Amino acid sequence: MDKRTVNFGAGPSKLPQAVLLEAQKELLDYNGLGISVMEMSHRSSDFMKILNRAQSLLRKLLDIPENYKVMFMQGGGSGQFSAVPLNLIGLKEDRCADYLVTGTWSAKAAKEAEKYGKVNIVHPKQDSYTKIPDLSSWTLNPSASYVYYCCNETVHGVEFNFIPETKGVVLVSDMSSNILSRPVDVSKFGLIFAGAQKNMGCAGVTVVIVREDLLGKALKECPVVLDYEVQAENNSLYNTPPCFSIYILGLVLEWVQNIGGAAAIEKLNKEKSSMIYDIINGSSGFYVCPVDTKCRSRMNVPFHIGKKDGDDALEKLFLDGASKRGMISLKGHRSVGGIRASLYNAVTIEDTRMLADFMMEFLKEHQ
Ligand code: PMP
Repeated sequence: MDKRTVNFGAGPSKLPQAVLLEAQKELLDYNGLGISVMEMSHRSSDFMKILNRAQSLLRKLLDIPENYKVMFMQGGGSGQFSAVPLNLIGLKEDRCADYLVTGTWSAKAAKEAEKYGKVNIVHPKQDSYTKIPDLSSWTLNPSASYVYYCCNETVHGVEFNFIPETKGVVLVSDMSSNILSRPVDVSKFGLIFAGAQKNMGCAGVTVVIVREDLLGKALKECPVVLDYEVQAENNSLYNTPPCFSIYILGLVLEWVQNIGGAAAIEKLNKEKSSMIYDIINGSSGFYVCPVDTKCRSRMNVPFHIGKKDGDDALEKLFLDGASKRGMISLKGHRSVGGIRASLYNAVTIEDTRMLADFMMEFLKEHQ
């Protein structure tokens, strides 16, 4: 195949070409063993090397301090919506947790946490998920076990470009759709989790980075596979892990390292997202992004075409035209409609330029 289709999907999403080629090369015979990673015992020294290498690469790329564990879990981001309260809501006797709800995913996480304790939504209810509620409207509970937020709301394209100040309360973040898109100060967090299928690999593995002093506090009803202490003590090998997904994660991390790490990636992500937002901003209202300019996501750019809530016929024409040019999965999430361009790490400047050129062409034709 000369030219691959460009996938602007929100996840599972595009993987770097170099990673796919490496996986293809090693598929039938990994490292001279005559078998693939999928057929390898998870207890073998060869697999152990794959797992430990992925772990140490992630530590290096995110500059993770010594007193944090890095775990590879299953159950996806949604599994962590349960695992977080099951492990952390009992940190304080009151079993209260503070949640910031800035979109679909944090709303789901808050709902799940209600099963295990008291949930306080720290800001007034929002009519739509297009901004981060003003800091002056937040009421944080000093005796909460933790404060939870979603760093990048994938459906709505709302991204935090600051770390909330919690005055010593443990901070938890879902970074499923923006991990490794920029450097992050891990020491400010008690826990970070992220499904791999957007910026770090394929579905099946969820990365959990947790401060060691938070281990061992799980509620007694916490399923053993979701218990952070058990997973940490067993180096993510309490049971059979998603071996192939961990292998792909390792290849992606190597790729990130080769292109210069999180800071280099951030530069590219700024350039890519500006390319698309500049067109939206300069389109005299033909393209409309509903998100407050202060928190527009670099990863997921949602927009409507033709009018504020979108002209269905024009949007269909846009999607069809994009697809004819080899650009797919640009349809907005079913709950919000419109268009969404996901510009994860593996989407290149050239891919983004192709989309930008098409947006300009479409604008000229239909304005
Ligand atoms: N959090 C965020 C920010 C997401 O974008 C998603 C999935 N798109 C999830 C959590 C849920 O992840 P999963 O499908 O792996 O359960």
